[in-house]
Amino acid sequence: MTPTPTNHINRTPKQQTTELQQPQPSAKKTANDFIFGKTLGDGSFSTVYLAKEVHTKKEFAIKVCDKSHIIREKKQQYILREKEALNMLVNDPYFVKLYCTFHDDRKLYFVLTYAKNGDLLQLIKRLGSLDMKLTQYYTCELVIALEALKAKGIIHRDLKPENILLDENFNILITDFGSTKILKQEPLINNTDQSQSEQVPRRRNSFVGTANYVSPELLTDKLTTHACDLWALGCVIYQMLTGKLCFLAGSDHLIFNKILNRQYEYPDNFSNVASDLIDKLLVIEADQRLGASDSVPYASIRNHPFFDDVIWDNIGGMPPSDSLEKVILDKNEEGDEKDCFEKAEPGLNNRQMARLVGLSMDSSESTLIYDGSVESLNLDNNQTKNGKEDKRKNIADLTPIQIETRLSMQRRSSKYHDLVEGNLILKQGLLDKKKGIRPRRRMFLLTLGPHIYYVDPQTMVLKGQIPWTEDLRVEVKHFRKFDIVTPNRTYLLEDPEGYALQWQQDIEDVHEFYFNKKP
Ligand code: ATP
Repeated sequence: MTPTPTNHINRTPKQQTTELQQPQPSAKKTANDFIFGKTLGDGSFSTVYLAKEVHTKKEFAIKVCDKSHIIREKKQQYILREKEALNMLVNDPYFVKLYCTFHDDRKLYFVLTYAKNGDLLQLIKRLGSLDMKLTQYYTCELVIALEALKAKGIIHRDLKPENILLDENFNILITDFGSTKILKQEPLINNTDQSQSEQVPRRRNSFVGTANYVSPELLTDKLTTHACDLWALGCVIYQMLTGKLCFLAGSDHLIFNKILNRQYEYPDNFSNVASDLIDKLLVIEADQRLGASDSVPYASIRNHPFFDDVIWDNIGGMPPSDSLEKVILDKNEEGDEKDCFEKAEPGLNNRQMARLVGLSMDSSESTLIYDGSVESLNLDNNQTKNGKEDKRKNIADLTPIQIETRLSMQRRSSKYHDLVEGNLILKQGLLDKKKGIRPRRRMFLLTLGPHIYYVDPQTMVLKGQIPWTEDLRVEVKHFRKFDIVTPNRTYLLEDPEGYALQWQQDIEDVHEFYFNKKP
């Protein structure tokens, strides 16, 4: 079978597309060079937005990471690795391209190719499973991508359908290089009896990646080689054809047992040639895996009968599949993405952030919530709104006259004044409060007293307050999520703006002021 392109989508030979998309050397960009249209998804310490470059009108996915969260979680290495690997792969097809990076006071920005058609997992779920033709096609693209990784000494270590995005032509774009290992930076050992092409560093590593796709040697020897990605390839092929995970169980421990015992089975009538390929990739001994010992990687995979009718040079157009046509039709009916840029302005300031998290741009909240503070009454802001350094203001420094002056300002200008029993508001911001299934968005007001009130911003009704005792403490779970723990109840909160750490710090400062100790 030779994959033949269909005529639905404008096709460009893969290599040419890549050259056109290469980042051009240019002046350092800033967030103001882009219009941020909508949120595409959240990672553990980033949010990815669909954005349009003002100058070129080109669309990109911009991954925005919160610096303080990265530092607190000690994820600097993760970010550096991702950037380095993406830079190394910028000329190879089938990888998300890093167009440029930049940063401001609080955030890091990665400008990436926008994967218009979601990811392979979504496609598998939408179709139930992929037909042989489509699976063969995507496997070819994956093999070519893995060859590029091998040539560059990059082990992905987290290859799975969620990390295989799909571009506008439904070609793959491998992403998420945070778990990557770049071998060329490491001293090679054991190389006296190996040919140049077989040299691999052998180092013990901690487990990274995703349980269902992890190779047995990573569980036993903690040894990373390129063969880890070949094991994952076997799991992905299985999943494309069956719609199911190859190794699935109730806990990571049980999944690992299945992996170590090679415990997986095929549905009835499963293609023999496909199962033979999968079985040859899912081999316990890493160096016995198909392709692992190739002198020309991955010739032995390309030569497997699964690819008998493939003309490898033709790979790179639109994947051939009747089932994709249905997906394309459905997508066309979903409407125009361009709407999301309406009313949007360049940059990622308070106003734009408020729009992206679904708040009215006209409401007074939208100008206040971004740094979570009431302007001129703020308890804390190492950075003022115009970005200049500002000396941290301690509550203890507030004289009674200053408090009175601020209270009278608050009385005049804050619609929340009457709801906080006349206490001085030190900080306010919209948070999602989880109770039951649906989180409720509430205006949280941290005041002298100390108190934390929360108000329904739509109805302006005071919904309650978090009882403050000496035992109250704040636990940050994620750059957005944090818990306020009291003896009788834990309040599960989420700051849509991603300033959970700032909330923790501000609440702890107030606590320290009243109780003479950090919570
Ligand atoms: P983690 O960082 O925790 O491993 P992740 O890899 O999913 O999670 P991100 O890379 O930040 O985190 O991506 C978050 C989500 O944004 C993804 O799940 C995906 O839905 C979307 N996304 C990421 N990159 C792109 C892209 N280039 N084009 C379109 N959507 C993207």
